[in-house]
Amino acid sequence: MSTSGVIDLRSDTVTRPSAGMLEAMMRAPLGDDVLGDDPTVQALQVEVAGLLGKEAACFVPSGTMANQTAIRAHTEPGDEVICHANSHIIHYETGAPAALSGVMIAPLAGPRGFFEAADVEGAIRSDYAAFAKSKLLVVENTNNRGGGSVWPMQKIREVTAKAREHGLRTHLDGARLWNACAATGISPREYASCFDTVSVCFSKGLGTPVGSAVVGSKELIHRVARARKMFGGAMRQSGILAAAALYALKHNRERMVNDHANAKRLAQGLAGIGGIKVDAAEVETNMVFFDLDPSLPMNAAELVERIKARGVWMMATAPRRIRAVTHLDVRDEMIPRAVEAVGEATKR
Ligand SMILES: *Cc1c(COP(=O)(O)O)cnc(C)c1O
Repeated sequence: MSTSGVIDLRSDTVTRPSAGMLEAMMRAPLGDDVLGDDPTVQALQVEVAGLLGKEAACFVPSGTMANQTAIRAHTEPGDEVICHANSHIIHYETGAPAALSGVMIAPLAGPRGFFEAADVEGAIRSDYAAFAKSKLLVVENTNNRGGGSVWPMQKIREVTAKAREHGLRTHLDGARLWNACAATGISPREYASCFDTVSVCFSKGLGTPVGSAVVGSKELIHRVARARKMFGGAMRQSGILAAAALYALKHNRERMVNDHANAKRLAQGLAGIGGIKVDAAEVETNMVFFDLDPSLPMNAAELVERIKARGVWMMATAPRRIRAVTHLDVRDEMIPRAVEAVGEATKR
């Protein structure tokens, strides 16, 4: 844990590398990845490309860089990217699609981060010279602001088929794709088969200190690697980080179902607290979002402070909404303690 005794549920990024992971990092053979000879980075890229059924992969420092290098690889300035209005690429990447690729966003609405093929079709512009060029569809699975929701496979097939039918490229923001796979049993490769490029994260549920990757065709990944260098994300002895990712892919994927069970138990516990509104049935993966009823005489930021005083950390994401995320440093017995802390904190 980040601080001893603290139950940190702010995000699945707060994990610390385990002893086994640190050991793997120390043992990793290293080179210079900008010069192209770091064997551990190369091994990771082969492994991830294989897992996702693509020709090539590019290791990058963050999920943001993974998405943004992919957007850059697919688009030209003035192009338009279609995605859900709640997307990470809109809300949490500092306006990078505009700043780094010069693209516009066409946001789509829909419950829990989902949209329909008809919505995609409605957003695609004709060739008329006054219009931006619709170029790329981005799907986020699992969907963060949608509550860690898992896109139904059939819906993914429909929206991506519609995009392809109109000549658009497709990108999957799979920062938490591993969670979707753990929740459904569907392979990473099957999800990835619907997309030209996929970004995946090693420092969310998998517990590495740093790292994400983009996968796709050799040609697209060549473009991604150029964008990575341009954006300042090409690294040297990065095999030390790639070793953590290789370790995590091997040891930390199957255990994610436990995070999902803990999130479900957390939601069920919170649902029993007066003034807290949460639908435990909607908790599909490791994220729990809950709302504060108007009857509670405090807002989300205040409740978060009061919980924190009891050693439990969560995140306010709106004036009356709080997020709690389970991960591999959350042990089963912490869940009832977290529920108890919220229960006490809601009382005057
Ligand atoms: C966390 C996250 C990212 C990447 O975030 P970084 O903090 O840059 O690693 C991208 N997409 C989604 C959906 C995420 O949750």
